[in-house]
Amino acid sequence: MAALEARTASHVPDVAHDLAQAPAYDLAGHPVAERAPGLKAMVFAGIRFAHRALSPRSLEGKTSIYFHALDRSQWDQFRVCIEHFKGLGYRTVSPPDFVAADRRERCLFVSFDDNFRDWHAALPLLRSLGIHATFYVNSLPFRDVEGSDTIARYSRRLGLAQDCEPLTRDELRQIRADGHTIGCHSHSHFVLGKLPRELWDGEIRGSKQTLEAILGEEISDFSWPYGMRRHFSDDLRDYCRSIGFATITNAISGCQAIAGDDPLDIYRTDWRLGTTLQENLANLRIDGRLYARITGRSVIGR
Ligand SMILES: [Zn+2]
Repeated sequence: MAALEARTASHVPDVAHDLAQAPAYDLAGHPVAERAPGLKAMVFAGIRFAHRALSPRSLEGKTSIYFHALDRSQWDQFRVCIEHFKGLGYRTVSPPDFVAADRRERCLFVSFDDNFRDWHAALPLLRSLGIHATFYVNSLPFRDVEGSDTIARYSRRLGLAQDCEPLTRDELRQIRADGHTIGCHSHSHFVLGKLPRELWDGEIRGSKQTLEAILGEEISDFSWPYGMRRHFSDDLRDYCRSIGFATITNAISGCQAIAGDDPLDIYRTDWRLGTTLQENLANLRIDGRLYARITGRSVIGR
């Protein structure tokens, strides 16, 4: 297995293909850029306000939200989120069950991206809430495999202000043993749309194989790193399908009306643990499909 990981990593130089304009966010999952005052932040705020005012929708039956880290200081906010949906009769589902569900069914697809030790520490919380979550994992930075230099470079790619603490492979196995779905989020978290074709196998197929070797089962769910339309392509989607991924999720918030229509294009909305339940629910109700189609961006931000 170590040989496989080494081979996978060696296929992809861990220095290139980073994005200068990578969407930086802090450990709480808030885009750093959005917190900075400035014209761009004001424009986004205006667009968001206009969308809320002009296209108020009711909450969709099928709803898809995603997170990054889940620090202990955020557990209460996470609990408020999940208990709100449970109170409305939502059940939590895996990616294929989300796609298969009828549009009017109240089902909630909860997922996490990247690779954080916090997820393992939060297993008692997830158990107490009785939810099923999906963890889309980068296979590079397991802390029982890689050293601090690699983890530091990985953290820079995520745009984190400080180095993250990733999982060990055994912690990943324990998350899976708790019944959650493990998906793939690529090996290193590069912008795949900018990655030369000859590196796709190492970065995507190799990541899938690494996770499969760790868990001893097939991995069939994938999440695009960064997740906006400009970060992937139809060719990449075809490639991912050809190597065995049955579902793929993006991170284009504001498109819940079509969240689970296409298994290879599942829309998720960024749930921000640093802000209020009402603010997050308002983000879920926004209809940003036209904005996303015209600009390739999410009306919520990024
Ligand atoms: Zn990510």
